[in-house]
Amino acid sequence: MLELRSITAGHGRGTPAVRDVSLTLEPGTSTGLLGPSGCGKSTLARVAALLHRPDRGTLVLDGTPVTRWRHRAPREQRTAVGVVFQQPRLAADPRLPLHDLIAEPLRACGRRPEVRTRVPELAGRVGLGADLLGRRPHEVSDGQLQRACLARALVLRPRWLVCDEMTAMLDASTAAALVGVVEEYRADTGAGLLAVGHDPVLLERWCDRTVHWSELAGRTP
Ligand code: ADP
Repeated sequence: MLELRSITAGHGRGTPAVRDVSLTLEPGTSTGLLGPSGCGKSTLARVAALLHRPDRGTLVLDGTPVTRWRHRAPREQRTAVGVVFQQPRLAADPRLPLHDLIAEPLRACGRRPEVRTRVPELAGRVGLGADLLGRRPHEVSDGQLQRACLARALVLRPRWLVCDEMTAMLDASTAAALVGVVEEYRADTGAGLLAVGHDPVLLERWCDRTVHWSELAGRTP
């Protein structure tokens, strides 16, 4: 399970963006998190992905409380969660060809020998032709770059996926294709999903259950 217990998290001074929010994700299930822009969904998603240390509360990942965050988190915990953001251009190193972007987590984990098989396999899954893999981010479209970011998020076979407005910048057919890739991956691996968004139609179609931000504070659904 991925348990967010009474999380309070913010960005420095002032009222925290997230106040006493609890949410439990079951393995193999998909949860949509809906709410208006600015309510704190991304901040909570970043806590769930071990990228943002909460001020209070506990993240429990498959039974183990998380005590260290970002690069300080143990590799086993860090690599258990794959994350895809809304804006691929902010998430992708502009210097790296798409091939290296997808391979980077494998290299960082000392798993270079897998690059030769995993990168082409994932590129195929997300619909990136071999000709695109040699291009850098400025030479591809937002949709193509987001496909590469999704491949990168899957390359270490995470048990959990956090998709934060993954399709918000994409045309309808690319959005549907990427949701399809996530669902195929989940069917193969049994990974759990947190999909953050503001579009109830998309999330209700995509996810087993959809929770609204306003239902979350101060209780554990
Ligand atoms: P949502 O994903 O629901 O749009 P966010 O979690 O991105 O909401 O933002 C919640 C609040 O935190 C907003 O008021 C936003 O302005 C603020 N915020 C988000 N990121 C930062 C940041 N890096 N620095 C300062 N404030 C931030």
